[in-house]
Amino acid sequence: PSVFSAIEMAPRDPILGITEAFNADTNPNKINLGVGVYYDDNGKVPLLSCVQKAENMLIEQPAPRTYLPIEGLAAYDKAVQELVFGADSAVVQEKRAITVQALGGTGALKLGADFLKRFSPASEVYISDPSWENHRALFESAGFKVNNYAYYDPATHGVNFAGMLAALKAMPRGAIVVLHACCHNPTGADLTSQQWDQVIDAVVTAGLIPFLDMAYQGFGAGIAEDGAVVRRFAATGVPLLVSNSFSKSFSLYGERVGALSVVASSADEAARLLSQLKRVVRTNYSNPPVHGGKVVATVLATPELRQLWEEELAAMRVRIKATRDAFVQKLKEKAPGHDFEFVRQQVGMFSYSGLTKEQVAKLREQSIYAVDTGRICVAAMNSKNLDIVVDAIAKVL
Ligand code: PLP
Repeated sequence: PSVFSAIEMAPRDPILGITEAFNADTNPNKINLGVGVYYDDNGKVPLLSCVQKAENMLIEQPAPRTYLPIEGLAAYDKAVQELVFGADSAVVQEKRAITVQALGGTGALKLGADFLKRFSPASEVYISDPSWENHRALFESAGFKVNNYAYYDPATHGVNFAGMLAALKAMPRGAIVVLHACCHNPTGADLTSQQWDQVIDAVVTAGLIPFLDMAYQGFGAGIAEDGAVVRRFAATGVPLLVSNSFSKSFSLYGERVGALSVVASSADEAARLLSQLKRVVRTNYSNPPVHGGKVVATVLATPELRQLWEEELAAMRVRIKATRDAFVQKLKEKAPGHDFEFVRQQVGMFSYSGLTKEQVAKLREQSIYAVDTGRICVAAMNSKNLDIVVDAIAKVL
């Protein structure tokens, strides 16, 4: 027997399992609502025009593929930092924020987790109940104990705000609290601006370390609106980590473009912190890839392309909202007596639909695939498949 012979099979990823079952289904009308990807009204993952134009510009000036600096492309880091915090913000002006290019939002979270484990090893991590399924595994793999804080209330299909606030107030000083900056995955239930005020106050008062995860900026109310909570946290002066991803907002899933930003209390502290973060990068993958970062930096720094990006992102956001409205309206007709109005209040790509595990199983018999928790991807519905989805749901209710 070798060192490998006793290795057991790892548990299947529940969401990838849905995709496997979906791929094996021979029904031509099958629909996969289990995904975490934006599809356009034709059911395709879009290639944004701003991305194509930036790529054309890059092809016209071919450059050798040298190594990037450990922290990534300087133009990218600067553009991302200004997007996340605002060019005129105190943290940017005073050089208290550092930003490093990361391998998507996941890579940014892992860098932040590894960094925190080095400098706050005794902290425990708190994630929302429920949260993006990779949050727990990721922080555990960095060596942290991971706990839940109250978040979703199935009775109201919204946030159990009293429970959340009580949980924050009960956390020990120095605990790391992972917060979804906007478009909560998986529930679609976000905090109001007033509720954020109270959360920020509780986090600051309790001496917690906030880690804001922003994977869907622009999919909620708008780029500035969705990013507002990050700026509000930054303005408090507490130590802050922010992971952000362009997978969804640029439809660049496979290029792995994201960033980790950390806010320090002085420029000097920020410089020391960056030097340590670079060690984390260096010992993991040395430096990030070139292409995706160049594309995003080009779009963000070129006014016409930036304008185009904002329009294309707005179109994705508007289509999702329109799909929510149409979904609720059609269910009202096809399943009178069942109230899905809450789906309109939810924000971002996902909806906790309230469908039970049994109902999800029955949907699957009709070749409609959703997550067991009832999470559906609103962006996977379109004008062609919406009637099929709604008819199938009406049958299982
Ligand atoms: N954080 C949340 C809440 C997400 O939903 C996702 C992706 O689904 C990520 C992070 C990871 O983003 P990326 O695909 O860029 O690694």
